[in-house]
Amino acid sequence: MSSGPGSGFEAGDGSGGASHAAYHSAERQFDDAARILNIGDNQVAIVKRPRRSVIVNMPVRMDDGSIRIFTGFRVLHNKARGPGKGGVRFHPDVTLEEVQALAFWMTFKCAVVGIPMGGAKGGVICDPASLSEREMENITRRYVAELFEVLGPEVDIPAPDVGTNARVMGWMMDSYSMRSHRHLPSVVTGKALELEGSAGREGATGIGLTICVRRWAMHGGRSLRGMTAAIQGFGNVGSWSARLLHGDGVKIVGISDVSGAYVNATEGIDPEAALAHAQKHRTLSGFERAAPVTKLKKPLEILEQDVDILVPAALENQITADNAERVRARVIAEGANGPTDYEGDKILRERGIPVIPDILCNAGGVTVSYLEWVQNRMGYYWTEQRVLEDLQQIMIRAYDAVHQTAVERKISLRTAAFVVGIRAVVAASEQRGLYA
Ligand code: NAD
Repeated sequence: MSSGPGSGFEAGDGSGGASHAAYHSAERQFDDAARILNIGDNQVAIVKRPRRSVIVNMPVRMDDGSIRIFTGFRVLHNKARGPGKGGVRFHPDVTLEEVQALAFWMTFKCAVVGIPMGGAKGGVICDPASLSEREMENITRRYVAELFEVLGPEVDIPAPDVGTNARVMGWMMDSYSMRSHRHLPSVVTGKALELEGSAGREGATGIGLTICVRRWAMHGGRSLRGMTAAIQGFGNVGSWSARLLHGDGVKIVGISDVSGAYVNATEGIDPEAALAHAQKHRTLSGFERAAPVTKLKKPLEILEQDVDILVPAALENQITADNAERVRARVIAEGANGPTDYEGDKILRERGIPVIPDILCNAGGVTVSYLEWVQNRMGYYWTEQRVLEDLQQIMIRAYDAVHQTAVERKISLRTAAFVVGIRAVVAASEQRGLYA
């Protein structure tokens, strides 16, 4: 997932410090939907909490010959609907609670888009920017070795997340296959095309997000042409979303990444030029000298621009009680996981600003990961057109089901997405019954 430009979150960006808040928000989102569904305490107990959380302390040899201990996590939140599915995050601020929150969202994300998988997530506390390629490889291989028993094509299938990419997935696939004495590409997704990855995976999350925004516009009788957008985060999700929305006639008036926020409200920003700059310089740093844009003194003000569409595509907990009153967008499309905390969400709801929630809006990534897993198991590979047609069909069906639930029950899109997701997980759980 960090294959986009400027990928890599930097130490002290606050995402880890906010991990407890992320888990707390996730639980409260669940409770709101569970109340509407009126599910019993037993079912809540079965589907709300993570089923398994593993912590490993991994000795890893560094380039200078020393040995460092890295802490890693793998959480399986729920497996009622299928094997665990979720990325592995390499970041200095990763915590068990953050990984648990992300695994929780994966369970309901898979259920909302109807793919037969459960929720999982992993992480390693490390700073990829300060590691050599060999050190990254050593950490990755040790991670797979330590967690071998809880991973597998029918058990729990990792993918890239912040700080990891197709290269890391290649090492994971190789480590797992070597240890198994079998060729097992379906143990991870998000692999390179040369290693049985899927066509269409790289842009899948941005494509899914754009399909959701188009659906929002269609249901409201609006046209995207001539609308404006601001995008926080310019990595894989942010840069793809910016380019695709721009292609639909949306003027991109603001973008940001770890280096700062850049705006041009009158002429807009050319996302291709921004991407070329970010690819050349690793971030958007210096973009204000290369293009007609102004750099904001306070980067967080990217979220307060007067736009039609706001896409938070960077970190958790960006829209909170501190700034939700100042958000001026007509719709928020959550590219990141958990970018709006529970209090921020409440304020947006009271102000009548719809939020296309993460578990629907960024589900394009896991959907194509699932299609990759299917292709790996068949050993037969589809064209990009075939993959994107399936993605489009799945996203439209999911968006419309959530939209309809929201309208019928007079609830937010977020609560409606949880209603759809929880209902599917509980139904599978009930059909299975209780083992032993
Ligand atoms: P990435 O590493 O490719 O890009 C992250 C971007 O955020 C970079 O441009 C980085 O500079 C920027 N950033 C970091 N700190 C920032 C800050 N304080 N303010 C503004 N920007 C900042 O990551 P990605 O794959 O694009 O993922 C972004 C988010 O989307 C994460 O929450 C991730 O979990 C979620 N997500 C990604 C995918 C996917 O397929 N890539 C799928 C679902 C969800």
